Amino acid sequence: MEPEQQRLLDRGLAAEGPIVVLTGAGISAESGIPTFRGEDGYWTVGSKNFHPTEMATQAAFRRMPEEVWRWYLYRRSVCRRADPNPAHHAIVQLERALGDRFLLLTQNVDGLHLRAGNTLERTYQIHGNIDYLRCGDAPESLQPVPLEIGEQWGKDSPFTEEARALLSCCEGGRLSRPHVLWFDEYYDEALFHFESSIHAAAQASLLIVIGTSGSTNLPMQVGTIVARRGAPMIVINRDPSPFSRMVEGSGSGWFAEGKAGDHLPPIVEYLAERA
Ligand code: NAD
Repeated sequence: MEPEQQRLLDRGLAAEGPIVVLTGAGISAESGIPTFRGEDGYWTVGSKNFHPTEMATQAAFRRMPEEVWRWYLYRRSVCRRADPNPAHHAIVQLERALGDRFLLLTQNVDGLHLRAGNTLERTYQIHGNIDYLRCGDAPESLQPVPLEIGEQWGKDSPFTEEARALLSCCEGGRLSRPHVLWFDEYYDEALFHFESSIHAAAQASLLIVIGTSGSTNLPMQVGTIVARRGAPMIVINRDPSPFSRMVEGSGSGWFAEGKAGDHLPPIVEYLAERA
């Protein structure tokens, strides 16, 4: 590891405040779960191809709820088949070493951090979890509940009456919705830990950002707050991103360009040995 990178990690350990890890779809790419970039991301309905930023919306769900559910059930089966990779395991090691100083903010809905062994208590799933559904948006029906439906959904699996029955919710058999934050919705505290995440950014002694393109709002706010405070920030990403631009030349950050599975384990080893 470069001396400058070690200096930043030492600074993070020496200061007070949580060590915050922020992850995006890139960390799960090595587990075989596609990100939203490239051809893989599109979903075909009839003769039309929809981008994830069109499918993952309230507007799409209102217009074609069964198609949106088919897309989620297919993606969920991809997530369920995937296993946590060395980068997920490294984050578990970090939580065990840091205890209450550790906090994970993940945009991923795949549940792999929890399956790897991170605790729900210290993991904020700021975009939800694909294994859960909610009845609707009324306050009394907000509590997410686990999906109880088969995991073998192909791209062409039809939306059957049985699926409809299994995905119906308490409100008179109405179709429930996936427990994810959609692109045309707002973060909140009750479901997505919005204020708590902002608070963590304002207190963090170190932020490690992994595999995110910076295209969503709360992660960008978290990065911006930490960067403005001049707290140390390590950015691991295969490609440059708004986060890498925040740290480059800042004197308080480091851009580790490449795969999460290559860059993260040595960083965690270093921190865990000194925690
Ligand atoms: P994104 O697809 O916008 O960006 C992924 C980033 O990861 C890119 O910058 C890419 O260069 C980088 N990357 C790819 N492979 C990598 C690797 N092996 N190591 C390090 N970096 C790598 O994803 P995002 O920023 O998380 O935001 C988009 C939205 O996509 C989020 O709302 C998220 O909930 C959703 N999403 C989640 C999953 C999942 O749960 N696994 C998958 C796809 C999309």
